[in-house]
Amino acid sequence: MIYLKQNLGLGFALQYATFLLIMLTWLKKQKEQILSPILDWVQIEVTTHCNAECIYCPHTFARKDWLSAHFPLTLFHDLLPSLSHTNLVFLQGWGEPLLHPDIFEMGRLCKNQGKKVGFTTNGMLLNKKNIQTLVDLQVDILGVSFAGTTPSTHNRIRKGTDFNTVVAALEYLQRIKAERKIKKPAVHLAYVMLTSNFDELSQITSLAKKVGAEQVVVSNLTLILEPQLFQEALFNNPKRLNEYNRTLVKIKKEAAANNILFVYRGPALDETSCVCPENICQACVINVVGEVGPCVFTNPILSGSSGKAAGKQTVAIFKDQLIPLETFSFGNINKIGLSKIWQSKKYWEFRRIFDSEPGFSQKKIQAEMPPSCRTCYKRMVSS
Ligand code: SF4
Repeated sequence: MIYLKQNLGLGFALQYATFLLIMLTWLKKQKEQILSPILDWVQIEVTTHCNAECIYCPHTFARKDWLSAHFPLTLFHDLLPSLSHTNLVFLQGWGEPLLHPDIFEMGRLCKNQGKKVGFTTNGMLLNKKNIQTLVDLQVDILGVSFAGTTPSTHNRIRKGTDFNTVVAALEYLQRIKAERKIKKPAVHLAYVMLTSNFDELSQITSLAKKVGAEQVVVSNLTLILEPQLFQEALFNNPKRLNEYNRTLVKIKKEAAANNILFVYRGPALDETSCVCPENICQACVINVVGEVGPCVFTNPILSGSSGKAAGKQTVAIFKDQLIPLETFSFGNINKIGLSKIWQSKKYWEFRRIFDSEPGFSQKKIQAEMPPSCRTCYKRMVSS
């Protein structure tokens, strides 16, 4: 009898403890939902695995020391309450998103919560099945990377990808969208401008039309990790800057005449610029291991502070000099909720530097920037 009573008592205690745990988890989730930051977007690095070896990508140089990992689906579930007031979830980092085995599940979870979803791909895994799934899920934005408008240039720069395969995949997507009379996913072409592929950019409107792209976003090479890439950055060729600018203006006009939005930042550097083009006051990036920062350039994965080469400092080339690549994080969502990280004093102070407060002189802003922002080409080509 005593034994039975003890067992009943223990059973009740266990049930009570389980109930308490469920209640606490539920309350935590509710609290995180209510306090979650109001953001334009959150970029989540779903993977750092990649099936390509682009000649300008840090992943290519650091391949043997690189931390190749997938963002855990369980962590993604835990993160969802923190995204309650986020408009767009962009599933992207230093890797190929379609390599994540749960990428579509992540997309589905976000769409079920009424979020917009997008990612950028190298296009090599855009097979018919994946395209159908993207269409069924009504993914909002599909960015596709190009580095040339001919197979020879694109394939030389974006090694491991194939221009014709990617174009054929996008044509297939275009057909499916036309058959179903739908507009999603909107295709955006992401083109990295190098000195060796700039001339081909003049054909980008034709390519965009051919594959049904609504938007072309061209970017400068702003993170240079190898000396041979120094000359590939447009801003390191000052004699051609006028020509580059003229061409970009011309392409923008041509694209607009074809209802294609052409988004670019000129290649001239303005070292005094205090504008970060990354929307850091209304968006953030969560890396593959849960670290939260303002942009992909401050991702700790890059600096060698994680992975096999932990402790080994990566160096970047900045104005003819090798400088240690300083990265940082404001917190890790494995330990603390995104809302607390976003509202932390440290993060708030960082955003305030760029938030052009009256009374903040250009000099003061420059002095208060973290080292990675001070030596950031992305900031300097922001005008
Ligand atoms: S200035 Fe550069 S490094 Fe700093 S937050 Fe902006 S993009 Fe990132």
